[in-house]
Amino acid sequence: MISTLLLLVTTLPGNWVLPLEFDMTYAFSDRSKDRMVGVDQRLIAVANLALQISPIDFGIPQHGGLRTAEEQRELWERKLSQLDGHKHKSYHQSGKALDFYAYVNGRASWDQKHMAIVAASFLQAGCALGYKLQWGGLWKNYKDFPHVQLVE
Ligand SMILES: [Zn+2]
Repeated sequence: MISTLLLLVTTLPGNWVLPLEFDMTYAFSDRSKDRMVGVDQRLIAVANLALQISPIDFGIPQHGGLRTAEEQRELWERKLSQLDGHKHKSYHQSGKALDFYAYVNGRASWDQKHMAIVAASFLQAGCALGYKLQWGGLWKNYKDFPHVQLVE
């Protein structure tokens, strides 16, 4: 079977130039899969469905899944997180959060427009599966664009 990859450049309002790929089935790399080990099965199901819905490919970065208190503290010390892992715990420590990055034109993208489209795919997937999700990009004070978490 020959799979067709159609690359189309669409110009959206506000000078958004977004490459849209059709007839493309994305799959998580082994690295992304490894980074989801220990994450809540519901969130993994959401991520898998989001990858089917999303017009943009995405992956899971290092420390994007389950974290120990020590890992969380290390990220806090490096100023990569607001939560120290002890006094202030992260949803990542209970496996109820996942970080993602967009993958566009063969490389990782942290562009907020790309992140927002991937986040919309997560939110739609969560809705379809009946799980309530929050996207960090909609938080009022501290915006965490790569972050989604399960709300119980
Ligand atoms: Zn996160």
